Amino acid sequence: MDSNFSVEISMTDNGLDFIKCSLKEMEEADELSIKYAVLHLSAGLELILKSRLQKEHWSFLFEDINKANYQNYVSGEFKSVSFENLLSRLVNICQIEISDRTKKRLQNLKMHRNKMEHYNLNIHIMALEATTFEVLSFLIPFIHREELVSRDSELLNYINNKLLQMDSYITQRYKEITSMLKEVSDNIKLLDCPYCMQKETLRLDEAYCYFCNTHFRNLARELIPKFTNEQDVFTYKEFNKIKCCPYCFKNSMIVALEECVCLSCLRVIEPSDYVECGDCLITHVVGDEEGEYYGEEYLCYHCLFKYD
Ligand SMILES: [Zn+2]
Ligand SMILES: [Zn+2]
Ligand SMILES: [Zn+2]
Repeated sequence: MDSNFSVEISMTDNGLDFIKCSLKEMEEADELSIKYAVLHLSAGLELILKSRLQKEHWSFLFEDINKANYQNYVSGEFKSVSFENLLSRLVNICQIEISDRTKKRLQNLKMHRNKMEHYNLNIHIMALEATTFEVLSFLIPFIHREELVSRDSELLNYINNKLLQMDSYITQRYKEITSMLKEVSDNIKLLDCPYCMQKETLRLDEAYCYFCNTHFRNLARELIPKFTNEQDVFTYKEFNKIKCCPYCFKNSMIVALEECVCLSCLRVIEPSDYVECGDCLITHVVGDEEGEYYGEEYLCYHCLFKYD
């Protein structure tokens, strides 16, 4: 067995060990142990993904491959690959398929982790359970497929059993919320939750997710950055733009062809309900316009008299 192989094994095992810790901490369910559960799950995920890169070649663990150096690698003194690059190297170099959905979920965990480190974020236990379940549902088949540990790994078996228990728990939870959601009246808008990433479990009018039991204090702040990429392009379900809300004037109205939703005042807004100044892009409710129409185009008074 060459020496690289044994390093590989220990990196994956380390990762699995972190995940095992995380699952145990999650069972305790108090605030501090939940925090550690997120940190350990995230660390475990990263180590396991990195162990796959390492299997390809150790130099891929360096953020800057040009600076890859074997001595630094062995001593561990180097800037290791960022999470984003880690994912793209797995896809582009190792040719591993990671669906957009899975990618979002992995990034979701990473974001929770970073927030926890910097702010005092409270994550609800159910959101954490849903995230853990999603992450492990990806990670365990990945570990087997990429042959990162031997089949009879005790750690992996332990985690696998937990995952099976969670599976039945989550199915049960789905049944419960499906009946709750059925009672929600049709005119209430349901969105996908930015915390637990479940589909249409978040009621807009109360900014409340039935699945993870989260009341969002600032839905716009939780949702918009998560669905905005590095090029500043926003895509969330059918919504692909952000505009100023004509009711609350916050920059939190997400816009689709057929309807708009304000994540601050929690309204559903029809595209025909508002007009937008062709110049400054400020929006006004139709009927409360503070400007004038020039054919199709609307200009607010401020912009109209700006050059006087
Ligand atoms: Zn949720
Ligand atoms: Zn609004
Ligand atoms: Zn204007």
